Amino acid sequence: MLSQRRLPRILAVLALFAAMLATSITTQLVTATKAHADGCYTWSRALSQGTSGEDVRQLQIRVAGYPAYGGHIATDGVFGPATKAAVQRFQSAYGLAADGVAGNATFSKIYALQDDDCTPIHFTYAELDDGCGGSGYDGGPLSEAATKANALQTIWQLEALRHALGDVAINISSGFRSIPCNRSVGGASNSEHLYGRSADLTGSPSLCTLAKQAPYHGFGGIFGPGYPDHNDHAHVDIRTTNSWSAPNCGI
Ligand code: ZN
Repeated sequence: MLSQRRLPRILAVLALFAAMLATSITTQLVTATKAHADGCYTWSRALSQGTSGEDVRQLQIRVAGYPAYGGHIATDGVFGPATKAAVQRFQSAYGLAADGVAGNATFSKIYALQDDDCTPIHFTYAELDDGCGGSGYDGGPLSEAATKANALQTIWQLEALRHALGDVAINISSGFRSIPCNRSVGGASNSEHLYGRSADLTGSPSLCTLAKQAPYHGFGGIFGPGYPDHNDHAHVDIRTTNSWSAPNCGI
């Protein structure tokens, strides 16, 4: 028999367990209803030409890899004709109706493509931050946050490149470099690598395949085989004026 003194304590413990269980179930339900939203960013309205705001800017980062050949998408939060065309190319690339309006179908695809830290599922921040074995995005000329924001756009453009080549794996041999790191590897003093805006690509597909595909995905800087010191990798960066050279690839 339970003593009368112990019974209230046992009931209290049971009540606590019940409360914990209820909280757990509630949490799971909330998580489930948000499953198609995201730990990174959730859009709350359809976006079309003429809209503006942070939600447009977040969209522009995701479709920055879908400009016209040799073009660049401004991530300025203003949904103009170039953003509409980029949304259409993104939609076509993923088999969606290409109406240039970012609504549920487009956002669902983006949610499916990104991790909770906002990076596309096939790349990580750590991958672009190989530096010289360091970690984090500090030590460059910009703030860590600004550098990381650049890296995010670089990665989304790489995701577009990767998808266009048939969802092949792409290997990044060097991404962001701190100032000492860039110096130690003999990088140019104004290297885009310092700003989180570059990636050096190696492995398969071939360097020329990568270099030739890059102009379709907003990369302004492209250097590959035949350009000095670029026979063993293809460098791409997100500068917005075009400087391309890979003579051995006909570029
Ligand atoms: Zn490079």
